[in-house]
Amino acid sequence: MTCDLKSLIRTVPDFPVPGVLFRDVTTLISHPTGFAAAIDHLATRAQASGATLIAGMEARGFIFGAAAAARAQLGFLPVRKPGKLPVPTLGVDYDLEYGTDRLEIDPTAIAPGQRVAIVDDLIATGGTALAAAQLLREAGAVVTHAFFVIDLPDLAGAQRLRNAGLVVDALMD
Ligand code: IMP
Repeated sequence: MTCDLKSLIRTVPDFPVPGVLFRDVTTLISHPTGFAAAIDHLATRAQASGATLIAGMEARGFIFGAAAAARAQLGFLPVRKPGKLPVPTLGVDYDLEYGTDRLEIDPTAIAPGQRVAIVDDLIATGGTALAAAQLLREAGAVVTHAFFVIDLPDLAGAQRLRNAGLVVDALMD
C-alpha cells in the first residue's frame, strides 16, 4: 500500500533551507485516488483508536485531519498558530531547531476526558506533535494516538512520542 502512496510524495531539495530534503505532500493531495486512500487509512486508524475528536496542526494537519475526521464521522479541532483564534485560547510554546514556536487551541472545544487523536502530515523530531499532545492534555483531553502520513525515522520523533505514552502510526517512512 505504502509503495503507491509513497510514489506520490515529492522530495524537494534545499527547502526551506539548503541541505534539507523537504517531503512535499502537495502531489499526494492533488492525486484523486491517492488522497482518498491516505484519508481512508487515517480515518480507519483514528476510528479504531477510540477517539471522538481529531486534532490537526496548522496547516497541513488541517488538510489530512479534517478530511479524516469527516470520513470517520469524528469532530475536528484545529490546533492553530498564535493569534488566529477569536476566543480566549490555551497555548503552549515549544522549541524549534532555531527559536521557538507556539500552538493554540480553543479549550472549550474539548470535553473533560474526551479522547482526542492527533493527525499531521509528517513527523520529524516530534516537537510539534509533543507540544500538541501536551496542550490537548492540559485542556482535559485523553491523548493516546498520533497518526501521520510520513515518518522521518532518522529524526526519532516517533520514539519521543512513544516515550510520552502515545501510540504512533505513519502511512510511510
Ligand atoms: P517536527 O516538529 O520536527 O516533528 O516537524 C513536524 C512539523 O513540521 C509538521 O507540522 C510538518 O508539517 C512540518 N515539517 C517538517 N518537515 C517537513 C517536511 O519535510 N515536509 C512537510 N512538512 C514538514
